[in-house]
Amino acid sequence: MGIGNLQNCPRCERLFVTGIYDVCPVCVKEIEEEFKRCVQQLKLNKNLTIYELSEAAEVSVRQITRFIFERRLLASDFPNLSVPCESCGKMTKVGRVCIECREGLQKSLNHNENQINPPNDKGFGYHSKK
Ligand SMILES: [Zn+2]
Ligand SMILES: [Zn+2]
Repeated sequence: MGIGNLQNCPRCERLFVTGIYDVCPVCVKEIEEEFKRCVQQLKLNKNLTIYELSEAAEVSVRQITRFIFERRLLASDFPNLSVPCESCGKMTKVGRVCIECREGLQKSLNHNENQINPPNDKGFGYHSKK
């Protein structure tokens, strides 16, 4: 904890002095390079998906996801740049989890307070012939 302590870099395992970044200086530099490569590829083709971008820029999907969460890359600027929802894996632009999962989360949070709507059990087609 605090500044001046030694810690292992989560990215490359190198020992480094904790500073304003959570990775070592070598990785900070590399991440900058990776960011530049992403921007470059997106300039060439703004329709890239995160996977295509990862391949073209040789940057891991995880790192690109981070750029997007840090808002260094604005997913909204690129039609196909979305990230997999952390909960269901569906591609989303809105954050770590997609809108459906976010709503589901909110619902389960409010679960105890409001009256719960009765489950929709009529005509659900359980016995329906296919
Ligand atoms: Zn490192
Ligand atoms: Zn989801």
